[in-house]
Amino acid sequence: MPKVRTNRVKYPNGWELIEPTLRDLETKMREAEQETHEGKRKCETLWPIFRAAHQKSRYVFDLYYRRKEISKELYEFCLDQGYADRNLIAKWRKPGYERLCCLRCMQPRDHNFATTCVCRVPKHLREEKVIECVHCGCRGCASGD
Ligand SMILES: [Zn+2]
Ligand SMILES: [Zn+2]
Repeated sequence: MPKVRTNRVKYPNGWELIEPTLRDLETKMREAEQETHEGKRKCETLWPIFRAAHQKSRYVFDLYYRRKEISKELYEFCLDQGYADRNLIAKWRKPGYERLCCLRCMQPRDHNFATTCVCRVPKHLREEKVIECVHCGCRGCASGD
């Protein structure tokens, strides 16, 4: 069944405590979208947007799973309203993916050598010294780095 969107969103308890942070990050995303793209590689212009989106998901994830400061209802609300990425959070809960930067970086078909993104390779196994993945600008998100 399609979700019915109404203007009268019912905000769960505790929303007022996390709203300022989420709004800040949303503003960051919007600012990044409007920033001048001059002199930047196309992929680079997307990085700040990815980063802010990542922070939002991470914030909600930490509050619920690590700090246990928000209710399940509020957590689900954040996912439903798009404040956090449900799929990304599902990955963070798997061993080895605790620090995954974005979903594209673990999809083999998006990369040149049919492996996952270079930022997923643990530091001690990397040959390159400087890492910047093209998708989100991640400089390494393998667990244990
Ligand atoms: Zn990464
Ligand atoms: Zn990434």
